[in-house]
Amino acid sequence: MTKPEGRPCPGSSPSILAVCGKWAKEASVAASHLLFPPACLVCGLELPAAPPGASLERWLAERICSACELDLAISGGRCSHCGLPSPGGSDCVGCRQLRGRLHLSVLPWQQLFVLGGYADRLRDMVLQAKRPAGEDRAELLAMLLLRQHGQLAEICLDAVVPVPMHWRRRLARGTNAASVIAKRLAWQLGVPQKNALQRKRLTPLQRSLPAAERPGNVAGSFRLRGRQPPGRQVLLVDDVATTGATFAAAATALLEAGVSVVYAAAVARADMTPAANNPDSLP
Ligand SMILES: [Zn+2]
Ligand SMILES: [Zn+2]
Repeated sequence: MTKPEGRPCPGSSPSILAVCGKWAKEASVAASHLLFPPACLVCGLELPAAPPGASLERWLAERICSACELDLAISGGRCSHCGLPSPGGSDCVGCRQLRGRLHLSVLPWQQLFVLGGYADRLRDMVLQAKRPAGEDRAELLAMLLLRQHGQLAEICLDAVVPVPMHWRRRLARGTNAASVIAKRLAWQLGVPQKNALQRKRLTPLQRSLPAAERPGNVAGSFRLRGRQPPGRQVLLVDDVATTGATFAAAATALLEAGVSVVYAAAVARADMTPAANNPDSLP
């Protein structure tokens, strides 16, 4: 499989309706903050008045204190392709290991955008974001990811697609953090969110399997919902990437359906070690 190149954005801009909707929502949040001063979603500290400026900065300033933000935004020194700690380059040791584990000659995504490693406070936040009451945290993580990777706004995306959860698992859990993150990213980027994929079958949880068996567990488990691909260039979103097997299976389904380029984004990237940083270890 030849790795496709991204296409330049032909100067597209968000619709007037989208801009007005965004402005109205932000104005209503600002009004509510006059009555109820916002507190940091991580540590609970009351936040100072948000400074004027770009909407992403203001949005974050109303939800997280600067100390917690520093704690969470820790993706420096990661490979932009496999998301693992690396001094950089297009073909790092992590990329080679990942391709080997997935039995692929080329990773099916163009780039992998990651906020940080699946550890410490970011791990705690992700676990909270996986619960129905944690959707505000999932949104916060999405916005931190976006600020960390400003280049996402420069890619001409046609759609943001969450990695779907099987409906039975979604029903049991009450939410899908990947969908919440994708929705927020799409909103902020001015790109449609499309639930373009569905799970063909309920597979055993990846966490229940050794790393070597995970690619086989999810391979071929996704299919396109509907007949049309969600666009030429798509951002595929999950909450956590561990072995990369789920991303690989979902990205392959999109490419086979006619998508030209798949970018991937995950809030946290677990190292390729056993259970120590298992993303599904919900209590
Ligand atoms: Zn804080
Ligand atoms: Zn790499």
